[in-house]
Amino acid sequence: MAAKDEKTRRAAWQPATQLVHEGTLRSSFGETSEAIFVNSGYVYDSAEQAEARFRGDEDGYVYSRYANPTVSMFEARMCALEGAEAARGTASGMAAVAASLLCHLKAGDHVVSARALFGSCRYVVEDLLPRYGITSTLIDGRDLAAWEAAVQSNTRAFFFETPTNPVLELVDIEAVTAIARKAGALTIVDNVFATPLGQRPIALGADIVVYSATKHIDGQGRCLGGVVLGPAEFIDESLHTFLKHTGPSLSPFNAWVMLKGLETLPLRVARHNETAAKIADFLGERHEVARVFYPGRGDHPQHELAKRQMKDGGPMVAFEVKGGKAAAFEIMNALEIFRISNNLGDAKSLATHPATTTHQRLTDETRAELGIFDNTVRLSIGLEDAGDLGADLDQALTSAKG
Ligand SMILES: *Cc1c(COP(=O)(O)O)cnc(C)c1O
Repeated sequence: MAAKDEKTRRAAWQPATQLVHEGTLRSSFGETSEAIFVNSGYVYDSAEQAEARFRGDEDGYVYSRYANPTVSMFEARMCALEGAEAARGTASGMAAVAASLLCHLKAGDHVVSARALFGSCRYVVEDLLPRYGITSTLIDGRDLAAWEAAVQSNTRAFFFETPTNPVLELVDIEAVTAIARKAGALTIVDNVFATPLGQRPIALGADIVVYSATKHIDGQGRCLGGVVLGPAEFIDESLHTFLKHTGPSLSPFNAWVMLKGLETLPLRVARHNETAAKIADFLGERHEVARVFYPGRGDHPQHELAKRQMKDGGPMVAFEVKGGKAAAFEIMNALEIFRISNNLGDAKSLATHPATTTHQRLTDETRAELGIFDNTVRLSIGLEDAGDLGADLDQALTSAKG
C-alpha cells in the first residue's frame, strides 16, 4: 500500500522534480550524487549466476556495451521526462539517429523524411540508407499533402526534426504522425531544437524521439551523447539488439555529465528561451536585419502551429542580414560575446553561418530550397545576460554597416 502511494505521488512529479531524482540508483555506500560506474565488465557470484544472466533468467548487468548503471540512470531520467516506456543512451546524437533508423529498416524498405534536416541526418537518409537498399523520399516537411503523396506500400518510417535547422520551419507533429500511422510507418522525431521541455512529441503521437544530448541536455559544451526513447518493444528489442552488437555505447562518464545536466535543464531552458524571445524581438526592430525567424514571434509563418505544439519559441533564433555573405561575415566577426561556432545548445551564445559551414556540402539550389542563403545567420542563445547579448548584437550590427 505504501509503495503504491509512493508510485502514484512520483507519477505526479513535475519535470523539475523528476530531473533531480528519477533514475537514481544508490550503491551500498549511500552516495547523494549519482556515482560514475567506470567499468567495462561485471563479475558473478557463481557460474550458475553467469549462466542465468546470459539466458535472461536473472536481471543484472553483463557488459557495459549492453548496459551500465550510470547509463541506466540517465536513460531512466530521460524516460520520466519524456513520458516514454524505454530509452537507450548512445555515443552521440548521430548514433541515436542512425541506430533508430537502421535497427528498424531493411533492404527494400522506404523512408519519407523532411528535407530540412541537420546536415548529418540528411546524409544518413539521403545517401547512407540507399547504399543498403533502403530508399528515401525527401519532401517539404511543412506540406502535409507532400507527406501523404510520398507514402509507398513499403514505407516503414517517417523522419523529421521540428523546428528545423537552421531557419526554424515547423512540422505539424500530430498531423504527420497521423499520416504515418495510417500508412503503417513509424514516426521518428529529432527533438533537439525544441528541447524535451519545450515540446513533447510522444504526447503528440510520435513513436520514437531522438536527441543529441550533446546540445541542451549537457548544455555546457562538454560531452557528446545521444538518446533514443519510445515503446518498450521497439527499444528493448529492435534497438537494444542493434546497439548491443554494433557498439555505439554512451560512456559512463558522459552519461554522468548528462545526468547532472538534466538536473538544471528546466532552469537553463527557461533562461535560453526567455532570452531567445528577447533577442528575436530586438533583431526584428533593426533596419540592418531583413528577416527574423523565431517560432515564438507572431510574424513566423507557422506561429499558430508553434502555439499548438511548442511550449514557447525555443532557444534558437535565425535571421537574414541586409546584404550578402560579406555583410553576414562582417557582423559575425564583430561579435564579442557570441562566438563563431557550428555547435549549439551551450551556455555560451554561438553564431553560425550555415551556408559556409553546416550546410556547405549542399548545392546552392538545395540550400535555396531550404531557405538558407548567404545572408542567413543562426544564433544559439546561451545563458549570458540578455541585455549584454543585445548590446553585443547592437555594436556588431552598427559597426558592420559602414
Ligand atoms: C547536433 C545534432 C545532431 C547530431 O548530434 P551529435 O551529438 O553531434 O552527433 C542531430 N540532430 C540535430 C537536430 C542536432 O542539432
